[in-house]
Amino acid sequence: MIMEAPEKTLRAAEAPAPEAGSGQILIRVRACGVCRTDLHIVDGELPDPKLPLILGHQIVGVVEETGDGAERFALGNRVGVPWLGYTDGTCRYCRSGRENLCEDARFTGYQIDGGYAEYAVADHRFCFPIPDGYPDLQAAPLLCAGLIGYRSLRMTGDAERLGLYGFGAAAHIVAQVARHQGRRVFAFTSTGDIEAQSFARKLGAVWAGDSEQPPPEQLDAAIIFAPVGSLVPAALRAVARGGVVVCAGIHMSDIPSFPYELLWEERSLRSVANLTRRDGEEFLALAPEIPVRTEVTPFALDNANGALGDLRDGNIRGAAVLVVG
Ligand SMILES: [Zn+2]
Ligand SMILES: [Zn+2]
Repeated sequence: MIMEAPEKTLRAAEAPAPEAGSGQILIRVRACGVCRTDLHIVDGELPDPKLPLILGHQIVGVVEETGDGAERFALGNRVGVPWLGYTDGTCRYCRSGRENLCEDARFTGYQIDGGYAEYAVADHRFCFPIPDGYPDLQAAPLLCAGLIGYRSLRMTGDAERLGLYGFGAAAHIVAQVARHQGRRVFAFTSTGDIEAQSFARKLGAVWAGDSEQPPPEQLDAAIIFAPVGSLVPAALRAVARGGVVVCAGIHMSDIPSFPYELLWEERSLRSVANLTRRDGEEFLALAPEIPVRTEVTPFALDNANGALGDLRDGNIRGAAVLVVG
């Protein structure tokens, strides 16, 4: 499924399978998760995508060919490909354990062709083994919703009362991890989304309600997954002294101005960008222990536009995943 240009629907096309170059593996794709970032790319909200582009950065597939030096995986191994597709390894961020901020990073399904296709190639150094016990479809959302959600959760420190704004693919995973860690989860959805609220309660949220509502008690931290800038002052208002608000998305509408007293008393506001390979290794080891169970809505590959449309309209429960192989 090819994106020729932003703001155009994806087009089904036939193309020869790519070949694994030096350090790369060729993957026969079995499933690929659909992420809100894909929507931001399609909508032209992220600058300078590769064009034409194959979207998709939550790839689960099987190694079919290995290039020179790509010795981490053997033919037939089941692997996952995440958003972080390349780093230079030499900049000040890479050298200080912050490769997620690499100045020359390239991202899967953005600057590198991704998994909305039968085949993909990836740099073996940035792929992960998929834990046994997760079917392909259920594994796919772990690779971005899970990884970025996990990194965001870590940024909340040991917050006991945790607010999640936007209860989609990432939040439905984070809620399970947070609960396992003994935190209490408060879920905020768009106004009147009763179904998402009951889904949140089913996954262990102690409270679920509209994002315009204050929670029944103050929070220690909040993570904002919805791309809605007005949630920032709302979340700051909901957190107690010393509380942290984490913006987990790559794009957000403008944040309205707000009085300083919302930030006062050592509240802090930060974003989370991308992932490190260490985040991936940690989370993919933790997920089966909890165990995290992902709820997925499957779509055929040639219905990728339908999956993106349903995600845009808020009609996905859990995560949307393209079924490829
Ligand atoms: Zn993503
Ligand atoms: Zn770097």
